[in-house]
Amino acid sequence: MISRRKFITAGALGLGGFVVTERAWDYFSESKVKAKIVIVGGGAAGITMASYLSDMLRNDDITIIEPNEIHHYQPGYTFIASGTFRPEEIVMPERKLIPGNVKWVKDKVQELEPETNAVVTSQNGKIAYDFLVLVPGCETDFNQIDGISKESLGKSNVHSIYDFIGSYEYHKALEKLPGMKEGRLVFTDTYTKLKCGGAPKKITLLTEDYLKKHDSRNGYQLDYYCNSTNLMTPQIFGDRLQTLYDERDISIHYKRRLVSVDASAKKATFQILTEPTQERLSVDSSTELDTVDFDLLHFTPPMGAPGFVKNSPLAITEGSLRHGGWVEVDNEMLVQTKYNNIIVLGDVAGLGTSKTGAAIRMQAPVAAANLVSIMEGKEPKLKYDGYSACPIVTEYGKVLMCEFGYEKKLMPTIPFIDPGIERGMWWILKSHGLKPMYYYGMLKGLM
Ligand SMILES: Cc1cc2nc3c(=O)[nH]c(=O)nc-3n(C[C@H](O)[C@H](O)[C@H](O)COP(=O)(O)OP(=O)(O)OC[C@H]3O[C@@H](n4cnc5c(N)ncnc54)[C@H](O)[C@@H]3O)c2cc1C
Repeated sequence: MISRRKFITAGALGLGGFVVTERAWDYFSESKVKAKIVIVGGGAAGITMASYLSDMLRNDDITIIEPNEIHHYQPGYTFIASGTFRPEEIVMPERKLIPGNVKWVKDKVQELEPETNAVVTSQNGKIAYDFLVLVPGCETDFNQIDGISKESLGKSNVHSIYDFIGSYEYHKALEKLPGMKEGRLVFTDTYTKLKCGGAPKKITLLTEDYLKKHDSRNGYQLDYYCNSTNLMTPQIFGDRLQTLYDERDISIHYKRRLVSVDASAKKATFQILTEPTQERLSVDSSTELDTVDFDLLHFTPPMGAPGFVKNSPLAITEGSLRHGGWVEVDNEMLVQTKYNNIIVLGDVAGLGTSKTGAAIRMQAPVAAANLVSIMEGKEPKLKYDGYSACPIVTEYGKVLMCEFGYEKKLMPTIPFIDPGIERGMWWILKSHGLKPMYYYGMLKGLM
């Protein structure tokens, strides 16, 4: 398929007759179908979809609804916390990323009305569509844990890198640790499905390595609390991480869920679970609890689909994914199961794979091509195989590249090397390659 813009780019770059001729053919295969497309959310998935669609459609009529003026490269949060990136390196004005021919409504969607093909916004009333691309990401619910709020992040040494400011606050706290000389550092996972499930482990391992590099490791006890019974699936990655935690003396406490924090007394209380669950549980007098002291707490907030999605007829109502209110969507086609004029991808999608930007890189071309097919009155053809990647930074200079698809099938990009070993080359890719690939490749619809 693709495309007008790439044709022009190829010509402008003077890539030679063959390429231009090939692009010329692509140019004429652009779809001439016309319809109004509304994209809800201008994050990683929204911008990528806008680029693909404005490329593939000659008569494009695309609107993005996105309230924020600044776009964050969220995978960079971990690297702000570790001091590898400066905060200003991962922000970009939204205006610079939205393709020129795409309209931007700076507003928030409050309600979905799929029966009448409209969304209700805060300030612009109802906006009608023929086709909807639903990509508002996931909501991090910092306030769900008693004693914590988004506003209190960084205060009393209670931190979370699942927030831009929070990641910088963590970095400041990290720099103070060598001077503190000793203490107990407590890290948590969460019980819901979460974006970048590797991030809680990355920050634990990076902190441990930072202490070693500053000759301060001996004074610190590190504890990791998680809802699950393993550190990660597929097992090859979980086993490797378990080995690293054991070798580096980081204690793991399985089947624990953070329920409250007393920041002034520096105490965190965990619910002891009999079985891991994604269900929101309530605490009563019969609940088994474990309260621990901390000098620094890094917690992972519970996550779910944004409220307007959870409360819509699009949310999953059965199985474990119903707890997050994620959108019910065909796992392969990325088309909503009840309304085939709605395409869903990114973190909000109730897919059986991990929520990452790497997953979106593979989902977007499938989602865009299938949307164009549906617009043309054809059956959607392309299939997404569940590919996701989580580069787990295990120390400054090494990354365990976890790549997998549906059913936890291993999907290594380089098949002939052992994926279960952390490597320097993945660190180089993560710290130098992935950010430019994100801004100038994925978000432009070029990869
Ligand atoms: C700490 C951390 C580390 C990560 N590390 C990695 C990594 O190493 N590799 C990787 O691949 N991924 C990583 N990720 C995950 C990756 O950033 C996300 O999976 C990706 O950004 C999801 O894209 P999205 O478009 O679905 O959601 P987002 O990028 O979050 O965008 C959603 C957009 O929708 C907008 N929106 C929300 N509600 C509304 C509304 N009501 N109306 C209109 N617009 C709305 C938001 O403002 C936002 O701009 C990490 C994430 C975090 C937080």
